[in-house]
Amino acid sequence: MADKYDFIREEMARLTNEGLLVRIRTIGSAAGAHMVVDGKKVLNFCTNNYLGLANDARLRAAAKSAVDQWGAGPAAVRSIAGTLSLHVELERAIAQFKEVEDVLYVQSGFCANQAAIPPLVGKEDCIFSDRLNHASIIDGCRLAGAKILVYEHCDAADAERVIRENLPNYRRGLLITDGVFSMDGDIAPLDKLYAVAARYNVLTMVDDAHGEGVLGHGRGIVHHFGLQGQFDVEIGTFSKALGVVGGCIAGKKLVVDYIRQKARPFLFSSATTAADSAACMESIRILMESDELVTRLWDNTAYFKQGMQQLGFNTGTSQTPIVPVMLGEAPLAQQFSRRLFEEGIFAMALGFPTVPKGLARIRVMNTAAHSRQDLDQGLAAFEKVGRELGVI
Ligand SMILES: *Cc1c(COP(=O)(O)O)cnc(C)c1O
Repeated sequence: MADKYDFIREEMARLTNEGLLVRIRTIGSAAGAHMVVDGKKVLNFCTNNYLGLANDARLRAAAKSAVDQWGAGPAAVRSIAGTLSLHVELERAIAQFKEVEDVLYVQSGFCANQAAIPPLVGKEDCIFSDRLNHASIIDGCRLAGAKILVYEHCDAADAERVIRENLPNYRRGLLITDGVFSMDGDIAPLDKLYAVAARYNVLTMVDDAHGEGVLGHGRGIVHHFGLQGQFDVEIGTFSKALGVVGGCIAGKKLVVDYIRQKARPFLFSSATTAADSAACMESIRILMESDELVTRLWDNTAYFKQGMQQLGFNTGTSQTPIVPVMLGEAPLAQQFSRRLFEEGIFAMALGFPTVPKGLARIRVMNTAAHSRQDLDQGLAAFEKVGRELGVI
C-alpha cells in the first residue's frame, strides 16, 4: 500500500527543487526602521508599517491600559456573548474617519473579505474582478460561489466590456478591486470604475489595505478620489499603515447592518482583544489629529524613488510608497536580496507565482520611520550590489 503521506513529500520536494519553498525569517525585535532579523541587526525595507505606528509609544500605552481594564482575551464571539463597548466605539471612530454611515470591525483584512463578499453575491450572480486582485479577495469570491469574471488590470474600459457582455446572464453583479496593488504600487482608477458600475447598477467594493494611512492624507483611496460614502463596501485592515491588527467593512448603514447579520467570520469566530482594539482606536485618533506622519512617508518615498532612478534602477509603475525594483529573473532577484542582507539591508525578492514570470523584483517599502540617513544607507547598498551584479 502506498504511504498516505507520499503526496505531501512529493509536493514539498517539488517546491524545494523549484526554489518556491517559503523560508520565513525570524524577527527578534519590535517593528521599526532598524530590526533584528535572523539574529542580525538590519535596516528594514520590507514592512507594511508605513507610518511607524506598530511600535509607537502612544499605541503601546493604549494597549497596556486596555489590558488593565478589560483583561487579555475577548472571551467571546461578539454576536453571541455581546460585544465590548470598546469595539462599538472603535467602529464609530472608523466610520467618522472614513466618512461612511457604518462599520463592522473584524479580526483581519483577510477575514473582512471572507465576511463581506458571500452575503452580497451567490450562485446566480457574478463578480467583476481586476486581474491582479489580492488573494483574500479571490478567496472571498470563491467562497461566495458566484461566477468570477476577470477584467484587465486597472482597465475601466475593459471592466465595462465584461459587465456589458455578461451582466444580463446573471441576477446581479459586484465589481471588486484592490485600491493600491501591493506588488506594483499602482492605484486603481476608482473614479472611472465607479462610474462604470453606477451606469450598470452593479454593487461596488474596494479593498484599501495599502491605501489607508497612505493616500488621501491618510484617509485612503476613496478620499483620494473624493468618493466618500459612494462605494457599497470599503474593506480595510489595521495591520498595515495603522500598525496593529484587525479588519473592517465600511459602507452604507443598510449594507453593513445586513453583512453584520450574515458574515460568518463575525458570527462564528472570536473578536480581537481589547488591547488590539484600543491600539487601533489610538492609531485612528492620531491620523484624525494630524497628517504629519503621512507627509513624512511621502517625502521619504520621493527621496528614495528619485535616488533609485538616478542610479539607473527601473522602479516600474509605482504611484505609492511601494517601490518595485525590477530585476527580471527570479534567481537574480533572490541573489540581490541575499547580498543586500549581507550589507545589512532587509528587502525581499518576489518571483513567480507572486508576480508574473520574468518580472521578478525586490520590493522596497518606504515608511515614515526611516530617517534621511537610513534612506542614504539603503541607496548606497543598492548602488553597491547593483554594480556588483551588473544591474546598473
Ligand atoms: C494585506 C492585505 C489584506 C490582508 O490584511 P490582513 O489584515 O493582514 O489580513 C487584504 N487585502 C489586501 C488588498 C491586502 O493587501
